[in-house]
Amino acid sequence: MQFKPKKSLGQNFLIDKNILKKIVEKGNISKNDKILEIGPGTGNLTEFIVKSKPKLIIVIEKDFKLVKSLESKFKKQIKIINRDILDISECFYKDDFKVYGNLPYNISTQILAFWCLNERIKFKKLILMFQKEVADRIIAKVNTKNYSRITILANWKFDIKKIFDINPECFFPRPKIKSTLLEFTPKQNIINLKYPKNLEKITKIFFNQRRKMIKKNFIKLFKNFDNISKEINIKLTDRPQNISVEKFLMIVKKFEDKLN
Ligand code: SAH
Repeated sequence: MQFKPKKSLGQNFLIDKNILKKIVEKGNISKNDKILEIGPGTGNLTEFIVKSKPKLIIVIEKDFKLVKSLESKFKKQIKIINRDILDISECFYKDDFKVYGNLPYNISTQILAFWCLNERIKFKKLILMFQKEVADRIIAKVNTKNYSRITILANWKFDIKKIFDINPECFFPRPKIKSTLLEFTPKQNIINLKYPKNLEKITKIFFNQRRKMIKKNFIKLFKNFDNISKEINIKLTDRPQNISVEKFLMIVKKFEDKLN
């Protein structure tokens, strides 16, 4: 290994060729596809993406050293952008891009939440790797302990499918935890909110006290809380984990109506 992997940038490179190939195949890349890869690292996954010959490959990598090595490895086959993904707000996020990403675990939830909440961000498909515990939260069912804010944000916008778990042995250096690959397909008909930030705000308020009944927070949101809870068909004795994604969206809609 030429590089000393940087822990601070979550550099655990996927080295199992079998898995790399399977991940790329999940994107069903065709010659008209545009691919965005986030955190390409040493280019292990990129290599397989290049082999599947899409129309365009853009990669975004923060580490300048890795960028230099990617440039000499791939030459003009890919377009490399040396930036922090967290500083990029929109220009690459188009509805015709398929996105691959094995992101550092500490920023993966943040970036997914940002993509869900920004209405101008659109994709064709996302194939993303997460720490297994985070993936379990993203795909959690209502009424389970893993059901969280990110479950609601992600399932509002996407149909999500678990592809497979990946063992630590498939990476160098070996992480301490298991990883999980998820596939996100944009939903055709999403419930529109006036200000998605309200969903962020309301889920934050409720899940900050995830063990408590929703009553106190609900009363704070609505003067006519009794009527509203009946209309939405929720019990004030419920905990946040008992409220489905659709019902959370209805709460936000009622809240937005109230602002009018
Ligand atoms: N996809 C590669 C590398 C995974 S390691 C593989 O599977 O082998 C995560 C990669 O994300 C590293 O290359 C790291 O430098 C890069 N990275 C970390 N934080 C980033 C950020 N904020 N923006 C862009 N890239 C980042």
